[in-house]
Amino acid sequence: MGRTGDLLRSTDTHCPYCALQCAMTLTPGAAVETTAAESPPNVAGREFPTNRGGLCRKGWTSTTLLQHPGRVTEPLLRGADGVHRPVSWDEALGRIADAVRSTRRLHGPDGVGVFGGGGLTNEKAYQLGKFARLALGTSRIDYNGRFCMSSAAAAGNRSFGLDRGLPFPVADLDTAATIMLLGSNVADTMPPFMVHLQGARDAGGLIVVDPRRSATAAFTADGAGIHLQPVPATDLTLLLGLTHIVIHEGLADHAFINARTSGFEEISRSVAGWWPERAQSVTGVPAATLRKTARLLAAGAAGAGCYILTGRGVEQHVDGTDTATSAINLSLLLGLPGSARSGYGTLTGQGNGQGGREHGQKADQLPGYRKITDPAARKHVAGVWGVDESLIPWARPARRRTPHELGPARRRALPVRARRQCGSLRPGRVRRHRRAAPAGFPGPL
Ligand code: SF4
Repeated sequence: MGRTGDLLRSTDTHCPYCALQCAMTLTPGAAVETTAAESPPNVAGREFPTNRGGLCRKGWTSTTLLQHPGRVTEPLLRGADGVHRPVSWDEALGRIADAVRSTRRLHGPDGVGVFGGGGLTNEKAYQLGKFARLALGTSRIDYNGRFCMSSAAAAGNRSFGLDRGLPFPVADLDTAATIMLLGSNVADTMPPFMVHLQGARDAGGLIVVDPRRSATAAFTADGAGIHLQPVPATDLTLLLGLTHIVIHEGLADHAFINARTSGFEEISRSVAGWWPERAQSVTGVPAATLRKTARLLAAGAAGAGCYILTGRGVEQHVDGTDTATSAINLSLLLGLPGSARSGYGTLTGQGNGQGGREHGQKADQLPGYRKITDPAARKHVAGVWGVDESLIPWARPARRRTPHELGPARRRALPVRARRQCGSLRPGRVRRHRRAAPAGFPGPL
């Protein structure tokens, strides 16, 4: 929304923060006729499949930032004294172009890296990936999804050959009889999401896996579901124990397994040693509760629907990729993926974290989740872009370190879009790299 004229009419939009993308309507603030700058637009929740008119406090207060005195509204250039001062857009863009050009001349295309963010729209994420690869010619592009969802992405690639977060609309959860949520406290982080757990709760099939008695776990109280409280860092064992029960109690969907999976024998052997009592001895979750959970999952899969959802709580561990893979294996054994009533998904946190990688912000992925190492994918994208395939850079092995590589020996320039590096990465290290940037190099970093 603009700062003056646009404030005079209502605008339908979405909350800019998390992946639920709640719908909202903004209307002019009370003081708009006198001093528009002093009165942020009013926010109202709007009916939409993800939020059903609800918002959380981040959404309700999102427009106050429009009048925040610390909001950057014009380009700033860091001077030799370290102070940022306003400059014109022409000067700012000219300085950036000069710096990028001279860096490329001195150090080659990979001397320039690009770092994007989950806050970019699909169109901007696509354009940033194309800009990096064709205009800059660099292989060094990545975004923050490389960090937060790396385990989930690796597990998805390993199991499905695709790094996809949530492959179904959240409204699909509404009619499921069983939903198992591992490592995510959505009641606190995206409260309007809770409406999609209500159906499973009413059916007594909501299962929350969290060592803490979180607000989401409390939703299972009164016999409305199960709260599994594994000892911290034993999520993988918990899933192996559930997988053991599903196989050994004959709860697996063998028609699905035979038609659409491979490796059943290997999975079966790998969980043979995780009988419920042994899983209990590691996780602290009673064997009877593990059996009840496995049966609830199977009953949902055979009935009104069953979903298994993972979040960062179980993914961000040293064995996070194996844990997410185990959640996928369990869902495959139950025949969930690809069903109209059931599924597996990993919850995305940031506004457009999913679109960021879907549209080519990751070093190893071209738009449409196409692998940059796949000759057919390279040829297809080169055709769409109207360039020779050889112009698309290949991904390099150290891509995950892109944001840490700024400095004299590695990346010399790192344009950053929609990302607050100093707040999100290791601030001291980022500031050190910024100090090492050439004198007069445009800021802020
Ligand atoms: S749940 Fe997410 S999208 Fe919805 S209002 Fe809150 S921060 Fe915004």
